[in-house]
Amino acid sequence: MTHRVLVVGSANVDLVVPAERRPGAGETVLGGDTTVSAGGKGANTAVAAARLGADVALAGAVGSDSYGEILLESLGGAGVHTALVRRVERPTGIAYITVTPDGENSILVSPGANEEVTADDLAFEGARVLVASLEIPLSTVESAIAAAAAAGVRTMLNLSPAAEVSSKTLGALDVLLVNEHEAAWLLGDGADPVKLLDLGPSAAVVTLGAEGALVITAEGTAKIPSPKVEAVDTTGAGDAFTGALAAALAEGADLEAAARKAVRVAAISVTRHGAQPSYPSAAELTEG
Ligand code: ADP
Repeated sequence: MTHRVLVVGSANVDLVVPAERRPGAGETVLGGDTTVSAGGKGANTAVAAARLGADVALAGAVGSDSYGEILLESLGGAGVHTALVRRVERPTGIAYITVTPDGENSILVSPGANEEVTADDLAFEGARVLVASLEIPLSTVESAIAAAAAAGVRTMLNLSPAAEVSSKTLGALDVLLVNEHEAAWLLGDGADPVKLLDLGPSAAVVTLGAEGALVITAEGTAKIPSPKVEAVDTTGAGDAFTGALAAALAEGADLEAAARKAVRVAAISVTRHGAQPSYPSAAELTEG
């Protein structure tokens, strides 16, 4: 059974420890209580889309351990289809996050099971949009995009974290989605974002933090401003944007309309703590 939005990406458990300061080499520091939450770019994207009512499946991998169980339950609870999340004989991916009082994060990621994600089980009948992000093997991302493009499914790549993607893959993309840092990594500092199209995608979207986003197509560039909000935690804002964009495209919205929805969703997400718990439902959007 396939779903309208297919997300190929990572699922991690986030172990967040508050600490007065981060330990130096060879040092032990006592921190506060650990918070365990569901994260990973792929899972976050899928949950953001599902909250908005999209029919979404995640293709990923978790370990046969208790963290894997926690992730499958939380994905299912959010309405994400998990038949394509394989259980493998590797530990579930874990992000070890230290947060200091200045709000700064240090993150150590152990990808574990995410290194076993493959594109083998993907089926595209009925699918409208494939969304891929990194934190999983690049070869999996490239195969998934090639297979989706061959099946006539719209392809979206959130190039996060930045990776050396082949020009063949970039050329098979309907939408390349990057933040300002990733755009600068691809094009060099200060380059005109319109040059992203020269890399091969049909369209590009650049997220600009509190400024909103740019939608770049062959017809021109549109700036989509963000609603002004009081941001308390921007963790997972890019993934909220990605999931909302995919959900809107799957419903048939054009790219600019989809980006307008995505900035509203991401703006709500930054007014609340955490990644997945901060993502709004479709009902909250219409209230706004
Ligand atoms: P990433 O989280 O990948 O670094 P950005 O910082 O560009 O990406 O944020 C992604 C999206 O989240 C932005 O396009 C915007 O819609 C929203 N966003 C991020 N920070 C804020 C903010 N302070 N106020 C309103 N919206 C924000």
